[in-house]
Amino acid sequence: MKIGCIKETLDEKRIALLPQVVEKLTLLNSEVLIEQGLGANLQIPDEAYKKAKAQILDKKTILQTADIILRVKKPSLEEIALLKKGAIYISFLDPFNEPQILDAFIQNNITAISMEMIPRTTIAQKMDALSSQATLAGYAAVILASEQLPRILPMMTTAATTISPAKVFIIGAGVAGLQAIATAHRLGARVDAFDTRAAVEEQVKSLGARFVKIDLGKTEETKQGYAKELTTEQLEKQKQEMTKVLSQSDITITTALIFGKKAPRIITQDMIKQMKPSSIIVDMAVETGGNVEGSALNKTVECNGVKIISGANLAGKVADHASLLYAFNLYSLLQHFWDKEKGFQLKFEDEIIKSSVITHNGKKLFGVK
Ligand code: NAD
Repeated sequence: MKIGCIKETLDEKRIALLPQVVEKLTLLNSEVLIEQGLGANLQIPDEAYKKAKAQILDKKTILQTADIILRVKKPSLEEIALLKKGAIYISFLDPFNEPQILDAFIQNNITAISMEMIPRTTIAQKMDALSSQATLAGYAAVILASEQLPRILPMMTTAATTISPAKVFIIGAGVAGLQAIATAHRLGARVDAFDTRAAVEEQVKSLGARFVKIDLGKTEETKQGYAKELTTEQLEKQKQEMTKVLSQSDITITTALIFGKKAPRIITQDMIKQMKPSSIIVDMAVETGGNVEGSALNKTVECNGVKIISGANLAGKVADHASLLYAFNLYSLLQHFWDKEKGFQLKFEDEIIKSSVITHNGKKLFGVK
């Protein structure tokens, strides 16, 4: 089987294949086709891919000949039209918001695998790119915020006087939030965190943070462990009770998401007005509507002296490690369903394939399982 990897076109520094993963793929008895200059963003020369036994080709040839294409982000409609009929395209595909791309996959008879749809099960952990990228994004959010804060994070006793630790508030303690808590704690900050899922309290405490208790009544989770939307009354109560913590925090990082839906609006302009001037907010939900009123994609906005930083694609800020983890996620997916003679097998009876294949054989499978 031929596995191809082409450069990203959107503003994306990560790449889907690194030489060490190419080498592992060739050991599966596959041919690996790499677009010329694929590693340029990360200063990886074509030579390194050649050494790992990849062929270096142009994009068009790869699209027309590969059986499987690996990438970080979605293809353009033009790229889909060039793909070999029956080929498999694997990347983040944002299927909830990309009906045109889905239609193009269907019309061109492409099997599309959406990395967002890999189930959050124990067996699929090694392929879970949402988690690998969210972990790095959580780390990057704290580093980004601390760079912008005109203060230090740890307590420091000096001959002049004692500096008290910065206060960091993490809203949403899923994968990204937990890593943000751990990072801020390691840097010496005093960390508070809140999540609507009660099960998270223990995890938050085990990382050395304080769990902010807000009684919202009954909150629900999906079978996959994702939070369900709060009612308007619950969200109102959350806002009221969080305001005090917010007004004392130096850094607030919001990571609250509802899978497949718009992110909940948690911080309003009124709440920002009560925050300390020169404090920082990083809105990690900015790409799906934003947790913070006034946050803007790829921009820093100032409101009453509070900087609201876009937390879009923070994994891309540490693109080297993000690519490494992502490439291994892809490898694990391929390897798990690899047959020595026949190559990658689409075993539709398996939960992982059933969940993540969103188009196949000219049909849409997304949302109909
Ligand atoms: P996510 O990115 O969908 O959401 C981030 C966090 O925001 C979640 O913890 C969610 O509860 C929280 N949230 C939603 N609305 C909120 C609100 N109004 N206020 C505060 N917080 C709010 O979550 P995720 O990081 O992708 O994790 C989703 C689930 O998957 C979790 O249960 C996690 O433990 C689970 N998970 C399991 C595995 C595995 O078992 N293999 C791997 C990764 C994640």
